Amino acid sequence: MEDCIFCRIIKGEIPSTKVFEDEISYAFRDINPQAPVHILIVPKEHVGSVAELTQEHEAKVGRIFTNIAKIAKEEGLESGFRVISNTGADAGQTVPHLHFHILGGKSMGEGLVP
Ligand code: AMP
Ligand code: ZN
Repeated sequence: MEDCIFCRIIKGEIPSTKVFEDEISYAFRDINPQAPVHILIVPKEHVGSVAELTQEHEAKVGRIFTNIAKIAKEEGLESGFRVISNTGADAGQTVPHLHFHILGGKSMGEGLVP
């Protein structure tokens, strides 16, 4: 996906602040943070969104969640954090490459949808 912004970040063509990387995933700080800690973790393989996941991706998604747990620990998010994956237009997805937001560092209350 040559014009996909997150594919270009993974390739190093667009700068990013790397937080974590392994063979299948890349995590970096969101350019427009919505919380004191706001990290995005993406698969290195281009997948459009959660809606495009199939059985083939199960191992990768599982690994991504293990990596989220590691990152949260390293970022000191012991008191809690939120994992969000906006999927499609109604959810306000703006970048069509699967990504999980990791948000924390402040109390976000109990509401889910503003
Ligand atoms: P979403 O609206 O769920 O698709 O989230 C896309 C996220 O990507 C937003 O929170 C943006 O701030 C973030 N974003 C867009 N471009 C970049 C970039 N070059 N580096 C880091 N984060 C970005
Ligand atoms: Zn992509």
